[in-house]
Amino acid sequence: MGTRQRWDRHPLPILRRATEEWLMRNFPPAYPVRVRYVPKIEEEGEDCIGLCERVGRRFEILVRDRMNRREMIETLAHEWAHAYVWRHAVVERRGRERSGIYHDDEYWLAFGRIYRKLYDEGGREEIDESIRR
Ligand SMILES: [Zn+2]
Repeated sequence: MGTRQRWDRHPLPILRRATEEWLMRNFPPAYPVRVRYVPKIEEEGEDCIGLCERVGRRFEILVRDRMNRREMIETLAHEWAHAYVWRHAVVERRGRERSGIYHDDEYWLAFGRIYRKLYDEGGREEIDESIRR
């Protein structure tokens, strides 16, 4: 469909920002989120493609910048789901995000909702529309 073509043609920084704004509108986390795209991400000595951390009273999401668009969007959605399920009670419990289970049932439910809305319920088209407006 034409939508995919347009999606692929948007300048990358604009697509990133539009996707972040769409996620914020549809799946607002308990605290503000900052997303950064960086060349290299390490977690406990291991290379990874994305990371979500609480930094003070906000979330910081890191996404590796050398990926194709689909991988980038999926990584952003994966990390966003972490921020989305970390509600106040969890966030206030210090150290939980380090010691707890990252991918529990609640996590995958949230990720599934984001994924479904993005790919099956018109999310990509909404993002596309928001760019062209
Ligand atoms: Zn994860």
